[in-house]
Amino acid sequence: MRTDLARIVGEPYALPGTGTEYTQDASIAMGLRGHADAVVLPGTAQEVADVVAWCYSRGVAIVPRGGGTGYSGGATPAPVPEAAGPEGTVVVALDRLDRIRSFDPGLWRIEVEAGVTTQTIARRARENGLMFPVDPGAAEASQIGGNIATNAGGPHCFKYGVTRAWVTGLEAVLAPGELVRVGGPTRKDVAGYDLVGLLTGSEGTLGIVTAAWLRLLPAPAHAAVPVAAAYPTVDEGCAAIEAVLASGVVPATIEYLDAGALAAAGGSFPGGLPTGAQFLVICEADGGEDEVRELVEALGPDARAHEPRELWRWRDGVGIAVTAVQGGKLSEDIGVPLDRLAEGIVGTVEIGIRHGLEACSWGHAGDGNLHSTFLLTPGDHAQLERAEAAVEELFDLAIALGGTVSGEHGLGWLKRGQLSKQWSPAAVRAHSAVKTALDPAGLFNPGKKTP
Ligand SMILES: Cc1cc2nc3c(=O)[nH]c(=O)nc-3n(C[C@H](O)[C@H](O)[C@H](O)COP(=O)(O)OP(=O)(O)OC[C@H]3O[C@@H](n4cnc5c(N)ncnc54)[C@H](O)[C@@H]3O)c2cc1C
Repeated sequence: MRTDLARIVGEPYALPGTGTEYTQDASIAMGLRGHADAVVLPGTAQEVADVVAWCYSRGVAIVPRGGGTGYSGGATPAPVPEAAGPEGTVVVALDRLDRIRSFDPGLWRIEVEAGVTTQTIARRARENGLMFPVDPGAAEASQIGGNIATNAGGPHCFKYGVTRAWVTGLEAVLAPGELVRVGGPTRKDVAGYDLVGLLTGSEGTLGIVTAAWLRLLPAPAHAAVPVAAAYPTVDEGCAAIEAVLASGVVPATIEYLDAGALAAAGGSFPGGLPTGAQFLVICEADGGEDEVRELVEALGPDARAHEPRELWRWRDGVGIAVTAVQGGKLSEDIGVPLDRLAEGIVGTVEIGIRHGLEACSWGHAGDGNLHSTFLLTPGDHAQLERAEAAVEELFDLAIALGGTVSGEHGLGWLKRGQLSKQWSPAAVRAHSAVKTALDPAGLFNPGKKTP
């Protein structure tokens, strides 16, 4: 297999399937490991198409891989032998497709290959007075192809929308190895079905994204100013979030931390937290002094502005601080309608109690997106089993509140099968029909994102 693939991508870029970092992703924190028969790093979109054609004609499964920062095991190849292709599994890593094909700052647009990192795009935009607002936490490693495949979000997506809002066109390899372009630099295009939307969020199960046309925006004229306020209860904190919306201000971000997350991370909060703080709201204004003042008014008398870099560095460390409490965690990314946020936050803790687990949450409050987390002691298998049962109950809660089992990270491998709880049988059949139409042999990322 490797010899054939080396003829397509070149000897140095056809690697063995074992002994490289390409058989695991960020879900390794959950102990998920995969197996591949080979790893290839194509250098051009045409090489990607040739690799897919080779695999598709031989019954070999294809696992697309970006930066490997995904939390749901989507880029982990064949986590169990049954998820391999009939003739094996090849990881197609997009690292070498890292060119910026065109950049027109004056027209607010950029065309990039799939392997360009999120951080590179954001930096190029910033250097030219523009912004690319999608900001998933691991921006230095995640690739735009991976962001598109997971329709990634991040704090600033409250005001600016998730990845889909910024993609005007895609170049992709579809079965059985065809290079296609849908959309492009045109900002509006409703001529065909929305294949750009379909591929966005498809988690590598319908094809491989090789390049994207992205919209950019002029950077806000005013420096961003985060404003934070602490509250004694979840209900008061959530009421403040709704007060912000009712005030008519559109903050760039609305984030929250509950009592458990504050117990883990609050000790290093810049300037310290007031006594009795059980809930924290962070909103960021990027519309100037008046907006900051209105935000402070809406958040209440204790709200105060912070130095942005200091505050966001602290916020970036929250996940690590929560993990440090017991040495491990099982974290999910449910989403609920904004008016049910308090129930999701309180419900997470109650589920933890029922299963004998410490639980907490934090996340993108404005989008109703909770990182509901159960704390774990590494090596405690009984506790892990209880946490897995707790997560099932958490998904039931999200659905009962009118929400979703995944607001950001996708189903991947770890949440396979959960969509059937959320969607009706007819909707699930439509989901499966799309998969069969675009991937009749079922070779693109088998076992992932299954309903
Ligand atoms: C510290 C940390 C913070 C995070 N914060 C956020 C956050 O705020 N918001 C958020 O949404 N996510 C977040 N994530 C999750 C993750 O960063 C995003 O989902 C990210 O966009 C994944 O990109 P990647 O390149 O690493 O993809 P990978 O992990 O490599 O792959 C993810 C999925 O996409 C598929 N894929 C990858 N590249 C392609 C391609 N070119 N074509 C087709 N399919 C492909 C893979 O098969 C897999 O199913 C975070 C992760 C970490 C580790």
